[in-house]
Amino acid sequence: MNTTPLELENIYDLAYKALSNNGCDHFNADSVATTVSHAERDGSVSHGLFRIPGYVASLKSKKVNGESRPTNTFLTQNAIRVEGNYGFAPVGIKVGLPELINTTNKHGVGVLTITNTHHFAALWHETEALAENNLIGIACTAYKPSVAPAGAKKPLFGTNPISFAWPRKNNTPVVYDMATSTMAMGEVQVAARDGHKVPYGTGLNKDGEKTDDPSQIANGGVLLTFGDYKGSAIAMMIELLAAGLVGDLFSFEAKEEDNNDGGPARGGEFIMALSPELIAGKNWNEHAEKFFDQMTSLEGVRLPGQRRHTNRLDKGPRKINSELVEKIKSLI
Ligand code: NDP
Repeated sequence: MNTTPLELENIYDLAYKALSNNGCDHFNADSVATTVSHAERDGSVSHGLFRIPGYVASLKSKKVNGESRPTNTFLTQNAIRVEGNYGFAPVGIKVGLPELINTTNKHGVGVLTITNTHHFAALWHETEALAENNLIGIACTAYKPSVAPAGAKKPLFGTNPISFAWPRKNNTPVVYDMATSTMAMGEVQVAARDGHKVPYGTGLNKDGEKTDDPSQIANGGVLLTFGDYKGSAIAMMIELLAAGLVGDLFSFEAKEEDNNDGGPARGGEFIMALSPELIAGKNWNEHAEKFFDQMTSLEGVRLPGQRRHTNRLDKGPRKINSELVEKIKSLI
């Protein structure tokens, strides 16, 4: 793969220009370009510039409102709904998160339900932002079906990611952010293209049999959840929280509505924040640090989020796929 070195500010500029030249105003382009450049900074490349062509496609098809102005409504004293105004999710999150932080600091628990947005990003951005404000963050979202529930041979769940972040007073937060599928369909397609096998049980072929051949999964097959029926239960929970509770589309409904322009389908996101200070009491940080000390003293263990936080320390240019850079430039 040929790569082009790009400084972080050039990554932001490239994303910003592609978005603003295709229908985003400053507020919307800035929110998404910031999320994209932070993803590249941290090495979350599958949710960085790679997503820009899809974002642009959904602006061009008018599926997404590039001039969205999300608004907050308090459903209860500590449950807030963000009406996303059909914009990209990072815009709704930017509007909702400060209110979620305020209300959680008052009440100990806060819920943010984000509706009518188009989600194409990683979730650690929002959970980590909560942890940087000394709150615990949990977030999940659903997507168009590509994953079979345990026992089934047809897709119903999206790759349904979930993220959790725990604040640390003198350290970067512990953050995990993971799809509940064994693998992303994009990765399966890349393995098929490159002639690699995938772990047995990644998905089923069109006859519903487990396979390690990615082309059989990508062509008429289906992905599975991680951990068999246990991952399936978590993927189901995510559908119920991000769609049932938020009051937005389940994955199967998102598929029915989507125009398949290559950009993100409409949907919701569920975010919950908890205050360890108000719930556990003053000693919460020291207590949790004892646990992290035990965990990291075990040989072979690293804490989730550590890879990204180490990547973040590198202030130099990032190597971006040259073909992708040219493609994005052609959209400007
Ligand atoms: P990974 O499998 O790469 O990583 C999952 C998590 O596990 C990360 O938090 C990672 O931390 C942690 N981790 C990985 N290896 C270790 C290890 N050895 N020890 C401890 N922790 C480890 O992520 P996925 O491929 O499942 O998901 C990638 C992204 O895709 C996520 O950001 C997710 O939000 C996004 N996504 C978004 C969707 C959407 O619709 N918006 C749909 C599906 C996925 P670290 O980062 O430090 O490596």
